[in-house]
Amino acid sequence: MTHSSSSLHTFGRGGIHPGPHKEATASREIEDLPAPSEVVLPLLQHLGEPAEPCVKKGEMVRRGQKIAEGGKTGVPLHAPISGKVKPVDKRPHPTMAIAPSMAIGANAEAGPELEFPEDPEWRNLPLEEALSRVREAGIVGLGGAAFPTWRKLEFARAAKVDLLVMNGAECEPYLTSDYRVMLAWPTEIVEGSVLIAKIAGAKKVQIGVESDKPDAIEATTKAAAALTQREIPVEVVPCEARYPQGAEKQLVFAVSGRTVPARQLPSAVGVLVQNVATAHAVYEALRFRKPLLDRILTVTGPGIVQPRNVRAPLGASLADIVEFCGGIKPETNRMVAGGPMMGRALPRLDVPLIKGMNGLVMLTGRGPLEDGFGPCIRCGRCLDACPLGLEPDQVSVRVEVGRTLDCEPHGALDCYECGCCSYVCPSSRPLVQFMQVAKSALRRAAATRSAS
Ligand code: SF4
Ligand code: SF4
Repeated sequence: MTHSSSSLHTFGRGGIHPGPHKEATASREIEDLPAPSEVVLPLLQHLGEPAEPCVKKGEMVRRGQKIAEGGKTGVPLHAPISGKVKPVDKRPHPTMAIAPSMAIGANAEAGPELEFPEDPEWRNLPLEEALSRVREAGIVGLGGAAFPTWRKLEFARAAKVDLLVMNGAECEPYLTSDYRVMLAWPTEIVEGSVLIAKIAGAKKVQIGVESDKPDAIEATTKAAAALTQREIPVEVVPCEARYPQGAEKQLVFAVSGRTVPARQLPSAVGVLVQNVATAHAVYEALRFRKPLLDRILTVTGPGIVQPRNVRAPLGASLADIVEFCGGIKPETNRMVAGGPMMGRALPRLDVPLIKGMNGLVMLTGRGPLEDGFGPCIRCGRCLDACPLGLEPDQVSVRVEVGRTLDCEPHGALDCYECGCCSYVCPSSRPLVQFMQVAKSALRRAAATRSAS
């Protein structure tokens, strides 16, 4: 299959249609969380080294002020609210159980938010200055990966990419935060994409948006047409609504026809992929030197009373955000940070909102493994569903009998845990978990070999 059968672009193999479940929040504009009384900022909420505090306990800080340095590989943190700095302490973390964190208690005496006046030269910044603003703004990939954006841009430039693919697919069921961001700020996203392309050295931008978001396609297409600076062309590419359209390899193929080889990054075929919300943050960083202070996330699922898209200061308590959405229904039995396909189970709500969290999904009903799972009946559905052509059935039967080190030829190291295979398995086999077990065993074995 080509990347554009009929008018819709798509990827070549596998994938599923899990049902969008987006109706509850798609029509809801982004709403602001009332100012929290405290924010908690884990020093590590991205790949790289933890941030190093540069303000002392008891110090008053204003919203927007830098409070921790990013070091050589990370990004700085900024105060999302004005208030008084509390001591660094170990506090609950949404994915790492517990982690060293800074906290700020709201205090009006700290003063208002810092001002971020426009730099009239924002479109023509020297490369080093532009990259430094992205870094100093504390921006990480807002699609969920949370990799420091400045490092990804630097790497893309060194790899001589020629194409920037913007991810506006938002293929995860339930989530609509990127969709609402595209409707709210289409011009800023297009401008931000051009700025990213310039830093990375890309000559063209393609924005991939799933076809079930026609108004987002229209808004970004109009914004691209209205762009006054035309040295980098911007094309909006409608893609089939099919999971995992937003996975990097699948999106790159869908919009550009380029195939990213196994275990390689899109830069291997000259492509950098960025998320649309990240483009908005880059735009604000370059034009206004405004750091990343807030996060927009979808709070939804059958277990939430009032599903919403919420803009909240980083570090706000998830419990407060859920409360703002009317609370959870008594029948809620699973909480997921991110989307239901690739998100992580969330054991508690007294944890802070971190940069990489794009959704909070409250689920009801029986979970996937509550009724156990059956043997593989060799139906082949998982093989048809895997977008990478892997063999999760083969991996699963080997892991069951302890043959984890025999799983590499069946793709255990290539799996990016999209969940398509588990979703279609009639025996409810936890194929992603089997893949994870095999992958970590193979990596451990490789590490042992290279250490000896
Ligand atoms: S879908 Fe499930 S039962 Fe069917 S081949 Fe795959 S693992 Fe076996
Ligand atoms: S989770 Fe892994 S094996 Fe399963 S469909 Fe996705 S990539 Fe393939």
